[in-house]
Amino acid sequence: MWRGMAKKPVVIAVDLGGTNLRWALVDLQGMILHRGEQATATMPDREALINTLAAELLASGRKADSLGAEVKAAALGIPGRILPEEGIVAFSPNIPALNGCPLGPRLKTRLPWPLVMENDANLFAFGENWLGAGVGYPHMLGITLGTGVGGGLILNGRIWSGTAGTSGEVGHITIDPDGYRCNCGNKGCLETMASGAWTVTWVKEQLAQKTPSWLVELWEKDPDAIDGETLVVAAKMHDPLALRAFARVGMALGIAIADVVHLLGLARIVIGGRFARAWDLFHLPLKEEMFRRLTLFPPEKVSVAPAKLGDDAGLLGAARLAWEAVGQKLL
Ligand SMILES: [Zn+2]
Repeated sequence: MWRGMAKKPVVIAVDLGGTNLRWALVDLQGMILHRGEQATATMPDREALINTLAAELLASGRKADSLGAEVKAAALGIPGRILPEEGIVAFSPNIPALNGCPLGPRLKTRLPWPLVMENDANLFAFGENWLGAGVGYPHMLGITLGTGVGGGLILNGRIWSGTAGTSGEVGHITIDPDGYRCNCGNKGCLETMASGAWTVTWVKEQLAQKTPSWLVELWEKDPDAIDGETLVVAAKMHDPLALRAFARVGMALGIAIADVVHLLGLARIVIGGRFARAWDLFHLPLKEEMFRRLTLFPPEKVSVAPAKLGDDAGLLGAARLAWEAVGQKLL
């Protein structure tokens, strides 16, 4: 369609996860023209990772060319503590090969376009803010519920990057000072009460204490058979323990969100990630707890909504970052 006309401008958005590297060619409207995926396991060390990333980026540039499009910029979303200005991956628990790596400068010398990078949860929020459940809200918090709990803060329509690459880490707000010891070293972080992995841990503890549940039989046969999905199924069948588990998730989120809203006056909270598929099971206890605690903020001014963009939120957030990096006003 674009043959013979001016080339269609696109950006390359990359989501570098612990298991997969996903990339997409995205236009100014947020349409994905083409996408690709590769297992991160094929990149065992830092040099292999940088080489593969550079090769994939250049290959997607050639793909754009074959589609009659022209790449204007590229953006990377990476889990962990990222210094966007310097292009440094300070710390990435999921991709340890990148710890301390000046990834931006290393890649830039090999690419013909500008390259920017950000924390993946920040890009999730940025994507939802552009085209998903956060549209029309200049101040919002995005929360991702998965194995852990991630967060991205949008203020005045921009990612709040904070100082030293750490911001929006709502998963490590303390909810219970005497709670579980979190992977971060603190006790009782939101993550230990609202993530899929920790909720499963809590349920198994209750089962060990003979709490009545239909899950007992399954757990006695094979404790590993209890996972987030099992809990969702059990809760939907009104299992009392599974229902309590999701009420606990909702309560913890409600406490954290009320704190953040009091602090920043946010009008919108968007919740995504794999474990957020259990939205129907935790959103009522979440709202009950949040509204009970929002003593100073007008309750009608804040809303909590499930994410809309699924697995593409991070890619679209990266695309938006790339477009803005080259001064493009987005529609
Ligand atoms: Zn923590």
